[in-house]
This record gives sequence, C-alpha cells and structure tokens, in this order.
Amino acid sequence: MSHSDSSALAALAKTAFAGIDGRQLTNKDRMTLPVQDMPCQDPAVRAHNMSEVAVGYTEEQARVEAARCLQCKNAPCVAGCPVAIDIPGFIGLIAKGDYRGSADILRTANLLPAICGRVCPQEKQCQEPCTLGKALKGVDKAVQIGRLERYVADLERASGGAPLPAVAPSTGKRVAVIGAGPAGLTVAADVRREGHEVVIFEAFQKPGGVMVYGIPEFRLPKAIVREEAEKLEAMGVMFELNTLVGRTRPLGALLKEDGFDAAFIGVGAGLPKFMDIPGENLVGVFSANEYLTRANLMRAWDKSHAATPIYPSKRVAVLGGGNVAMDSARMALRLGADEVRVLYRRTREEMPARAEEVGHAMEEGIIFDFLSSPTEVLGNDKGVVTGLRVMTYRLGDPDESGRRSPVAIEGSEHDVAFDTVIVAVGNESNPLIAKTTPGLNVDRKSHVLVDANQKTSLEAVWAGGDIVLGAATVILAMGEGRRAAAAINGYLKGK
Ligand code: FAD
Ligand code: SF4
Repeated sequence: MSHSDSSALAALAKTAFAGIDGRQLTNKDRMTLPVQDMPCQDPAVRAHNMSEVAVGYTEEQARVEAARCLQCKNAPCVAGCPVAIDIPGFIGLIAKGDYRGSADILRTANLLPAICGRVCPQEKQCQEPCTLGKALKGVDKAVQIGRLERYVADLERASGGAPLPAVAPSTGKRVAVIGAGPAGLTVAADVRREGHEVVIFEAFQKPGGVMVYGIPEFRLPKAIVREEAEKLEAMGVMFELNTLVGRTRPLGALLKEDGFDAAFIGVGAGLPKFMDIPGENLVGVFSANEYLTRANLMRAWDKSHAATPIYPSKRVAVLGGGNVAMDSARMALRLGADEVRVLYRRTREEMPARAEEVGHAMEEGIIFDFLSSPTEVLGNDKGVVTGLRVMTYRLGDPDESGRRSPVAIEGSEHDVAFDTVIVAVGNESNPLIAKTTPGLNVDRKSHVLVDANQKTSLEAVWAGGDIVLGAATVILAMGEGRRAAAAINGYLKGK
C-alpha cells in the first residue's frame, strides 16, 4: 500500500463513522491504517525541563487510532485489563467523535483514567492480547489503548472534569483509610459514595502515594493527581496528612477508641532495598526512593522556589533495570548531571522497565552499561563517593523467572569514577503496621495476607495494593481497592 493510500484511509477513518464519506472502513482497511505515534517533546530540549515528555494525541490522531480497532466480539483486550474496562466500547465512541460518551464508559471502571492512560504497562496488559497486534505480529502494532484512554480523559479534564459522583445520605458509619496512594484513594471514593464517612490517614504532606513522590512530573504531571484528591475532598472525604499510623496512632486505636467501624490498609511498598555491598553508606549514595521523593514531593528541581537541597552531581550511576531506575536516571539528568549511566546485570532484552521508558531514556542521552554490576562503592577519606568497582557478566541459563541469569566473569572487575550512586533495585513493604498491629497476619516479607475480598486476619480490616502484592502497578492497586471497597460496603450494610 502506498503512503497516499494509507493517508486517504486515515482521512476516511476520521470521518467514516460520522457518515460523511458514505463509505465504512472494512477490517482490511483498519489493518492498513498506520499506528499513531505519540508526539513527544524533542529529547534534547526535554532532558533539561520537567514538563511532560509525551504531549498527547491530536483529535485527528485519536480518531484514526480509534478506527484501527476491529471491535472484536470476544475483546481479548478487556480480559487483559485488571479493571475490565469496556475497551471496544470506549474506543468505538472515540471513532464516532462521542468523547463524552467515551469518558462515561471509562469512568464506570476506572477512577483515574488520566493517570492510567499515562503510566499503565499496557504492552503487558490490555495491548498484549489485542487481536490487531497479533495479526500484525507485534505488540507495538496493537491498538494504542492507553494513548486513547489518556486522550479522552484529558479532554474531559480540559472541559472542567467529570461531574462529581453522587454521595448517598449519611449512614453514620466511619471508615479509616491508611495511605493515600491509588489503592487508598479508590477505596475512599467507592466507600464515600455509599454515604459512609471516610478519613484518609497519610504519612506524607500530600496525597497520591507513589504517583506523587515516585513517578516524576515529566511522566505524570502532579496537577492531575491533585485534581483527583480535590474531587474526593469535594465528595466529603477527609484527609489527615503527616500522620504515620503505627507511630502517630496505632491501627487498633482507630477501631477501638476513635469510633471507626472499618479500616483499609493501603500503605504501599516504600522500603527501599539495597545491594548489600561495601561502601553503600558513603555520602553520595541514595536509594531511588529518597532521590525521587526529594525531587518530586519536595520539588528539589524547582531550585529558585524549593528549600530542599539537591546533591550536586556530575557523574551519576543508577543501579537497576526497572521503571524506578529509568525515572531516577532521567531525573538525575534533569537535575543537572553531565553524565548518567545505568548499570544492569543483564541485557536490554531482560530489563523489566517498559520498553517505551528505556527508549525515551536512551534518546535523552542516558548511557546503558549492560552486563555490569558493582561489587563495591568506592570513597575517599572524607567518606564521600568517588566511584564504583564494577564486575562484568555474561548471560547463563534461564532462572526461575524465565530470564537468563547473569554469570560473573572472573577477573573482569574494574573501577569507574562517579560522584553519585542511586540504588534502584526494588522496594519492600514497610513492616511498621504489621509490627504495631497484633493479630494482623503477614508473610515473611511483611506483605499483609488477605482473602479473595481483600479481608485481612483482623475483624473489620481490609488491605490492598503494594502492601499485599509487593511492588506492583497503579492499576492493580486500584483493582484491589475496588474489591476491598465493595467488601467494606457489604460489611457496613450488614452491621
Ligand atoms: P503507594 O502508592 O505506595 O501509596 C501508599 C501511601 O501510604 C503513601 O502515600 C505512603 O506515604 C502512605 N503510608 C505508608 N505508610 C503509612 C503509614 N504507616 N501511615 C499512613 N500512611 C502511610 N506503576 C505503574 O503502573 N506505572 C508506572 O509507570 C510506575 N512507575 C513507578 C515509578 C516509581 C519510581 C515507583 C516507586 C513505582 C512505580 N510504579 C508504577 C508502581 C506504582 O506506583 C505502585 O504500584 C502503586 O502506587 C501502589 O499503590 P498503593 O496505593 O498500594 O501504594
Ligand atoms: Fe480493538 Fe484490539 Fe480490543 Fe480487538 S482486541 S476490540 S482490536 S483493542
């Protein structure tokens, strides 16, 4: 097919559902429509600013991308979505230009579509089983469901946002939600709608969890998260910020002394893991959590307004191969580093980070040292980082995760100069709540144990999100929140 044929089809796709051209697209036509790329800021420019990297589809692109959807009867994409959004339904309405109707469909299943459209790993969820992607032999050729979700959600935001959900008359029942991440915010919305009083207790000074302190502004503008929290406030949800449950007040006291009828634990997995190598306590070594929290939550990047000091870095090493490592590396570049290198023990193929994020990082000039990992952090006599002793690896046989495991090459150790090291090798559950709540069953990693309805071992206490799953995703945390809220509402009805 020539380029002009495909452009003519794209023009037709834009109008076909409105009936202007009088010709409907066939499935064969749809399969020849080009995937619509996401317009992005120029890498050389965006590497030095905090504005969002992806700027979003134009209306024309959204209509053409929506017209690629084959409207499959069995819709395998829906089965791949953790909250079962009616994907052909919302995309079909975009193709027809009915954006409000499309947003209505999205919102029935997903409380945070503008956020999920930006950060969900669609290539492993809804887009992975997409019939079109399978037919065209590449998940990158699947219908770009996340980009379309973002388009509709942004249009709705720009037009003043969705109407506030109705709140039932007061029941007099009170629910404590611990943690204001996506799991806690979802529970709060669904429980408040039934007329119960909801108080969210949050350790930090802003609600949003990792969406605020972890994922950087250039991937997820904080204004979007703030709007969602404001919506909850407008529905009557109350926030008790700067409150660390388990230290400021134990969970048991909320239920037994403060008059709460039920509680939800959504405290995430905010405890950083380290490599356990010599020198990790030197000045200039950060956990990715601390580094990103300073930059995001305390706006260290906004040097002329924020009081948060930033560590002056010129040569930065980031250890790890996941999304957190990509965010840290790209943040370090934006905070002024001259050179940022990601050290990862395997190769690009085994990296757990989203392919799109790795691609963006590479475009921005981040250097990847694959098959490399440090055995020691080197420092000077003042206790300050001067570099890393790095071992080189080769790939051996697959391990239990199915990925080929790294095998150290004897005698390959060499020293590389760095002034900053960011450790991004994973997060674990914070054991505070488990330690201060007698009778709450957890596993050996302090993950709270729950049944199929997110109910814990304690009467009137539910849990969900990363504190149950280990470090997972926003949409999985929301899905668990939804399930827990339904169970809490059922419990309070019967009480
Ligand atoms: P969290 O978001 O961690 O929220 C928990 C909240 O509880 C926090 O605000 C915390 O301060 C509060 N809290 C903790 N202890 C207490 C206490 N004792 N008392 C009161 N409050 C407490 N997922 C994606 O889907 N896409 C991505 O692109 C993505 N990128 C990521 C990038 C980074 C840097 C990180 C760290 C994670 C990323 N994730 C991503 C994962 C995702 O953000 C999490 O899976 C999700 O936020 C978990 O939600 P949650 O509600 O369970 O917990
Ligand atoms: Fe559309 Fe792909 Fe879902 Fe089929 S599987 S309905 S083509 S998004």
